[in-house]
Amino acid sequence: MAEHIETTAVPETGVLVGLVTRSQTEEAVKDYLDELAFLALTAGITTEKSFIQKLDSPDPKTFIGKGKTEEVKAYVEENEIDVIIFDDDLSPSQLRNLEKIFNKKIYDRSLLILDIFLLRARTAQAKTQVELARSEYLLPRLTRMWTHLERQRGGTGTRGGAGEKEIETDRRIIRDKISRLKERLKQIDKQMHTQRGNRGSLVRVALVGYTNAGKSTLMNLLSKSNVFAEDKLFATLDTTVRKVVLQNLPFLLTDTVGFIRKLPHQLVESFKSTLDEVREADLLLHVVDISHPNFEEHYHTVNTTLDEIDSGDKPVIVVFNKVDAYRPKAKDPQDAEADQPADPLEELKTTWMSKVEAADVVFISALKKQNIDELRDKMYRQIKQIHVERYPHDHFLY
Ligand code: GDP
Ligand code: MG
Repeated sequence: MAEHIETTAVPETGVLVGLVTRSQTEEAVKDYLDELAFLALTAGITTEKSFIQKLDSPDPKTFIGKGKTEEVKAYVEENEIDVIIFDDDLSPSQLRNLEKIFNKKIYDRSLLILDIFLLRARTAQAKTQVELARSEYLLPRLTRMWTHLERQRGGTGTRGGAGEKEIETDRRIIRDKISRLKERLKQIDKQMHTQRGNRGSLVRVALVGYTNAGKSTLMNLLSKSNVFAEDKLFATLDTTVRKVVLQNLPFLLTDTVGFIRKLPHQLVESFKSTLDEVREADLLLHVVDISHPNFEEHYHTVNTTLDEIDSGDKPVIVVFNKVDAYRPKAKDPQDAEADQPADPLEELKTTWMSKVEAADVVFISALKKQNIDELRDKMYRQIKQIHVERYPHDHFLY
């Protein structure tokens, strides 16, 4: 079996399914589905329609109710849709039942994210991490359809789905693969640790933030390097480290993978060593895309993830990016103008300056290079302070 499965980039069509429950409002679900459509597009799937259902809680057998299931089935058959994508995670049995009903490829958010990571991984470490996460996700979910698809991807196509015996064989193959990948990851981690150790005593600064916030753009600007940046989710997967000098102060700047709502926990697990870059940083630049209507939720998602990897207490500069594209959220489109303050961005600045405790806050545009000097200034002051605390006798640098 091929070790690295290539995801085919053939364009596909899809529909999205979201659930409004007691814990998820309709407005939130619409935003989540927008993000899901963006994720789908990143994976090469064009969204043709979204289905939203209101239920107190998900149906344990089919996630959505019977009527909605029939509505979706009619639509996907009529329009020859390839994939049905659920915003929430499906249990293995829900996945099996839905596959039986629709006889189509079913994705949930986790699997979509895993597939994107698989497409985008470049280094041996990233590839191994994603393969491991994906294998662990798939193991309990191996169904006739999945086994069939995996064989197609692996280039050993069997027609018409696989039997129980083949599924059992595939389970064994995947289990072996998981232990081999874990072993390999251990080796790579050791090498990476040594590499990081060799970087010496320079202060380390890490760019963190929600995916697509502008981290790589800022990395390029600050380090004059050429990191891949584009308007897709997870454009960069591998961390990049560059030595940067501000005035006379050298430090290491790391670009990291973006965080996202509901990052599959297998992925967080297997990305531990990538996240080590964050964990070992002395200072974080938390980049926030202020032009995104959900930026506050993004900000909190990132902080929660930072807490999860014990990095919530690090010194941080909150960098509100994309001020050039900022449009205030109108509460009511009818009287939006009447309610707007004279300068919505200025008002937003004052609220956030006082909201973010114990952190420097700066508003910039990485793309239009606005206010970058203020950011550099804040970075310089914090890095210098860290340096002085670490090397109290080193007077020569300043
Ligand atoms: P990352 O996922 O956080 O690394 O984000 P990228 O740096 O790849 O940027 C994502 C998208 O946002 C790209 O299309 C960038 O050109 C765009 N972008 C980055 N900074 C700005 C900005 O200040 N203003 C605007 N309008 N777009 C930006
Ligand atoms: Mg990036």
